[in-house]
Amino acid sequence: MNTQKIAIAIHGGAGTILRSTMTPALQVQYEQALQAALDAGYTLLQAGGTSVDAVAAAVVSLENFPLFNAGKGAVFNNLGKHEMDAAIMDGKTLEAGAVCGVANTKNPVLLAKAVMEHSEHVVLCGAGAEQFAAAQGISSEPDEYFYTKQRYQQWQQALAEDRVQLDHTEKKFGTVGAVALDAAGNLAAATSTGGMTNKKYGRMGDSPVIGAGTYANNHTCAISCTGHGELFIRSVVAYDISCLMEYAGLSLAEACDKVVHDKLVKIGGEGGLIAIDKLGNIELPFNSEGMYRGCKNSDGLNVISIYKD
Ligand code: ASP
Repeated sequence: MNTQKIAIAIHGGAGTILRSTMTPALQVQYEQALQAALDAGYTLLQAGGTSVDAVAAAVVSLENFPLFNAGKGAVFNNLGKHEMDAAIMDGKTLEAGAVCGVANTKNPVLLAKAVMEHSEHVVLCGAGAEQFAAAQGISSEPDEYFYTKQRYQQWQQALAEDRVQLDHTEKKFGTVGAVALDAAGNLAAATSTGGMTNKKYGRMGDSPVIGAGTYANNHTCAISCTGHGELFIRSVVAYDISCLMEYAGLSLAEACDKVVHDKLVKIGGEGGLIAIDKLGNIELPFNSEGMYRGCKNSDGLNVISIYKD
């Protein structure tokens, strides 16, 4: 039995997250939600569970928290509907599962996991994904479950101004994600999102695109992104970090720095990501004002952060 380090990192979105616009009470809510998600994943890792199960458990916890833009708190599209995207990847086998444009699925990450584990496909979209969810016994919820007043008001405002908005405040991305290293030395990543407020019906972001918003490979790293999806897809962000490690010999920190603070910045790609390598090194880089984030490992590390400083 390998007694190596176990570790997990999570995010709840990046963007213009400033102390000046946060109330103390709200900050406590966010911090508690992040800690609960970290603990949900870490408890599984401690019990010898797989990194795949750990990232799924952490993301489920974040999806159930209404203030993050995933699952219950997913934003409205331009038709006033919720269309969610999610993905999961196993770094040991390079198996992956993803869903896009799903409505009514309580926890899209569990549907992505079912696609990975119980279908011969990697990505299922819309009605076909929902049909598969029903066949797999994945929990669904009525439209009202996904209604939150705050999201509705944001959508109404975006609709009135005829613009597509990244989550609820300007330039704030609320996607959630997790990456983990388990006791057997295996990496995994998962990401889940409601996308962008007032996005066009049928728009898919980077989260369910393997290699863009989500990627895991035991030889390099596991990555989950949050940010302006179109630019993250065009930059193939998650796989680019893996490639810089595999082909150019960069460390996790160097590869993250290159992609987040140089390459993405040059094309105007605002956002961030969480990353972990096979040694349990963790990086949480972002080029925005803040990113809801946290990490925990078997060396006693337990950090929750929101702002840049
Ligand atoms: N990356 C997500 C998307 O474009 C948005 C986010 O991170 O909040 O769908």
